[in-house]
Amino acid sequence: MSLFSKFDAAAALESTLSSMPVNPTSIVISNVVSASEAIVNGRTTIMAGTNNYLGLTFDADCISAGQAALAETGTGTTGSRMANGTYKEHLQLEDELAVFFDLPHAMVFSTGYSANLGILTALLDVDDSVLLDSEGHASLYDGCRMSGAKIYRFKHNDPDGLAKRLSRLGEKAKDALIVVEGLYSVRGDCAPLKEFVDVKAQYGGILLVDEAHSLGLYGENGRGLVEEYDLMNDVDFIVGTFSKSLGSIGGFCVSKHPQLKLVRYASRPYIFTASPSPSVIATTREALKKVQQGQGLREKVWRNAKHLYEAFVELGLDIGPTVSPVIGVSFQDREKAFSCWQDLLSLGIYTNLILPPAAPDGGSLIRCSVTAAHSETQVDSIISAFKKVCKERNVGRLN
Ligand code: PMP
Repeated sequence: MSLFSKFDAAAALESTLSSMPVNPTSIVISNVVSASEAIVNGRTTIMAGTNNYLGLTFDADCISAGQAALAETGTGTTGSRMANGTYKEHLQLEDELAVFFDLPHAMVFSTGYSANLGILTALLDVDDSVLLDSEGHASLYDGCRMSGAKIYRFKHNDPDGLAKRLSRLGEKAKDALIVVEGLYSVRGDCAPLKEFVDVKAQYGGILLVDEAHSLGLYGENGRGLVEEYDLMNDVDFIVGTFSKSLGSIGGFCVSKHPQLKLVRYASRPYIFTASPSPSVIATTREALKKVQQGQGLREKVWRNAKHLYEAFVELGLDIGPTVSPVIGVSFQDREKAFSCWQDLLSLGIYTNLILPPAAPDGGSLIRCSVTAAHSETQVDSIISAFKKVCKERNVGRLN
């Protein structure tokens, strides 16, 4: 096999996608109008497929903080955190994250992806075992794989499946790492964290929760699902990202364990990459304050989520059992999912099309998300567009 022949599969995929009337992987946003609207294919489009849950990407205070940092501190650090890339603001953000979570230790990474690689490769090595939810994000899987640890995947959100695998590990269970998420980003379902904590209490294990999508949305202070369920003392590591509710880019890990301080010396994805630029740190710090005072934003996003969810139930769409700002609409038929997605786009509604093998269970999905930045009128427009498309395409109850 030649070096380049491995691209044959990618070439075939590209050719299939390019032959579609609109290639779902090549959407270009030519202008961003606001936190909830953009110009796509020449028309004003409501963005109903982002992770901008609190709508902070256009927050005036975040923007001025970023602008001030650019002017005062320059465009980038040009170095690793372990060399010239630790500015006092990186440390301030780490302190603020620790205070926000009410945990003693916090570490900032350049992306959410590298936070997961960085923590997992530092925690695990070839002699370790890791139990990973089968719908865990690619970065969690990649981090586990990169560590060389033995990976046991258990059925999505299934505490019994986890218990079975832990029991088979015997003595080793107490040192096994359990990796789950809070809110899952494709179907919008939440982990049964209390039950996972009970399993951990029975068999042992160290629990890491990726709150990438739950930060800002759940818990009285917006800390995430762990706070919502009052499990702060039962979880060992929380990882997350700045690229969703915080509206910037970067990642973090917080923990009660002092060993997190030593991860800096043991984590190649932390050491061998440049640190986040000052403007990113500044907007993130400002956004974290907004999350902390974010009761109003949370009320707004949940109001929008409930409104959309109820409308989808009314339409008889195949969606998950609980309300959340992320709603995955499942389709048996991939062609139908694609046609509906394209129709929605032509009506000025951008959603995420998730086709096999990316969608769970090999099905196809249209992922729809709402944010605190969507007005009620915009949510109504999303609903009207779905109504029209579902009727025309014979989807749900209206057919
Ligand atoms: N964890 C989860 C659960 C995610 O969904 C994502 C990104 N979608 C990441 C980590 C990676 O975060 P980032 O895109 O900020 O690198």
